Amino acid sequence: MKIKTIFTGTIASCLFAVTTLMAAEAVEWSYHEQEEWGAIHDPSQTVAPHMYPYAVCGLGQHQSPVDLASANPSRLLNKLKIRYPADTVNFYNSGHGVQVNFSEGYQGQLLIGGEAYPLIQFHFHEPSEHVIGDRTFPAELHFVHVRDDGKIAVLGVLIEIGQENEVFQTVLDNTPYTGKDSNQNPSASINPVLLLPRDKRHFYTLAGSLTTPPCSEGVNWYVLANPISISEAQLAQLKSFYSDNARLPQDLNNRVVAETP
Ligand SMILES: [Zn+2]
Repeated sequence: MKIKTIFTGTIASCLFAVTTLMAAEAVEWSYHEQEEWGAIHDPSQTVAPHMYPYAVCGLGQHQSPVDLASANPSRLLNKLKIRYPADTVNFYNSGHGVQVNFSEGYQGQLLIGGEAYPLIQFHFHEPSEHVIGDRTFPAELHFVHVRDDGKIAVLGVLIEIGQENEVFQTVLDNTPYTGKDSNQNPSASINPVLLLPRDKRHFYTLAGSLTTPPCSEGVNWYVLANPISISEAQLAQLKSFYSDNARLPQDLNNRVVAETP
């Protein structure tokens, strides 16, 4: 009887431990140790696949970002339709970047050959993650679309220095400086279309991954061929939040980058 009591007690405390740890944050990671993301160990886990939650970052063969320079023109690509109405958004400091989350029930979507991907959030990297040959851009914007079945499509917009962007300024002025903090400003409506280049017809596309841990693959990437511009002062303000929050280009392996003719 004694043994049984101890046994029951152990199960109870284990369950408590598991519940407590599951409520904890995902394992921390940083950009300056990006080569090691795949090896990051979760000490709260004892079962093999869960012990290395970001293993795909190291082992995956379809990782993002990539160098787009080898792109082949293709006439067979799906047309993109970008439907992004204005929204009263949530300005979010993710702890790794400046991010804007759309409200629940937001109707914005990316249509890929008639297939709808709802727009969930956008965020910024400095400098760009995708490169074109030896050309790295000052920053890059990612519009993240997630379907109910979990399928993800990301629309990337390269950013160069030039004229100031008014919508970007609204984002900068409303984002909290503390990581994991968010800010809802009912008077700051964001029209995401104003963060897109005039020419939305030309793009690069390939199958890739999330560019942050867990680096999950199966992400459909579309990077617009034409950049938008922000001012030098705006880039400086972006860098005052996060600088060098960009993953380096990954091997294409056997992937082919396609581009609109
Ligand atoms: Zn991103």
